[in-house]
Amino acid sequence: MKSFDEYVALAEQAHGHMCAGQILGLRMAVHGMHLLGIEDPTGRDRKRLVTFVEIDRCATDAIPIVTGCRMGKRALKFRDFGKVAATFCDLREDRAVRVAAKESSKQRARELYPEIEDRNAQQMRAYREMPEEELFDIQWVRVRLGPEDMPGYKSARVTCAECGEGINFKREVVRDGRILCRGCAGDRYYEPL
Ligand SMILES: [Zn+2]
Ligand SMILES: [Zn+2]
Repeated sequence: MKSFDEYVALAEQAHGHMCAGQILGLRMAVHGMHLLGIEDPTGRDRKRLVTFVEIDRCATDAIPIVTGCRMGKRALKFRDFGKVAATFCDLREDRAVRVAAKESSKQRARELYPEIEDRNAQQMRAYREMPEEELFDIQWVRVRLGPEDMPGYKSARVTCAECGEGINFKREVVRDGRILCRGCAGDRYYEPL
């Protein structure tokens, strides 16, 4: 593991600015690694880890800085729950821990540094220093990961009978005997014009 200051510098570079959310994300990931006993997530242990994130905000950008888990490697999974939380799955030991930011941490930051008026600066300072028990709730959990969810999974690509686009990783659905992509099956986030 790198020093926290090194992580901060790398996160700032990747994210474009430093902010309280990033500090929280870095601490969350470091805590997750400690809980799982993973010492070298971006090196020796890089194939051991899959991370789920639950929000598309600053904290999420910081997490791969520590874990090395990236979406393009299928090691970072996004579930849009709107929560500042992440689940770190150790594939080798077959165990997972979910780390969630406590609602009380903002209030705690106000109590610790009332003299810092800027909220972001106040929280950045406090989130660096607060003990993990004050920042996070943790929960050991089971995450069901099929072979098709794993990094490195190889699958035959199938073609959607409706739109003709290729579908990877068994994400197709069968509707009335036809193979469809999730979009054509009705699970669409866009409307064709
Ligand atoms: Zn930010
Ligand atoms: Zn389709």
